[in-house]
Amino acid sequence: MIRRRPLFLLVLPLLVLICVSFSGYAGFFDSLELSLEKDIGGDSYESIMAEMTVVQLEPEEEERLQSIFNRLVNACSRKDELEFSLTVVEEDSVNAFALPAGYIFVHTGLLNYVQNDGELAGVLAHEIAHVDRKHGMDAIKRQVGMGLILKLVLDKNKSKETMAKIGAFAINMAQLGYSREAEFEADRYGVIFMEKAGFRKEDILGFWQRMVEETGDQDVPKYLQLFSTHPPTSERIERIKAM
Ligand SMILES: [Zn+2]
Repeated sequence: MIRRRPLFLLVLPLLVLICVSFSGYAGFFDSLELSLEKDIGGDSYESIMAEMTVVQLEPEEEERLQSIFNRLVNACSRKDELEFSLTVVEEDSVNAFALPAGYIFVHTGLLNYVQNDGELAGVLAHEIAHVDRKHGMDAIKRQVGMGLILKLVLDKNKSKETMAKIGAFAINMAQLGYSREAEFEADRYGVIFMEKAGFRKEDILGFWQRMVEETGDQDVPKYLQLFSTHPPTSERIERIKAM
């Protein structure tokens, strides 16, 4: 009589092997995708630097801003895989935006509008959250399709033309605002990072409230365009309060 081994004993090592190699490939793909994100972020950063006027703050103010920013970056989950940077640009509108891979910009209009460090931290945390949750890369994937992303990830000599198109799209998304869901998610994670860094969520609530009082939910004037394109500010306030 031939004793047959239970089937699972034969299949098990095979399954383990498949899982291990798959997770190896997944990790490999993730690292290639990360390098694509850095390429896209770096290219669009260069375009913004060529288009906008960078402002050099007084050393004391610069140090204060950087220290708030660093505290928030340290609270996010991608702090080790990315080099976050903060650049102040000359622009009157109250706005800030984040490019893929951690390039964050604030307008001088925002620096003048905030009333305390907590409000500023709240806005910066929201932008860091867009990078942390990969909202830029997700939007790019939806826009260009996974097929092209795969091709770009695997292609060492990426087409400059394609990369420029993707970079322009990334900048547009960053400046105009992401999807409704992404904005709510950035609000939520922004508050988490703020609190982890020692700021209070009441400060960002105060900021939003002031904006609603000044502008209402509709017809937001251009200089107060911050995050105005997507979810109504009052709904964002309610959601942050409920956290
Ligand atoms: Zn946003």
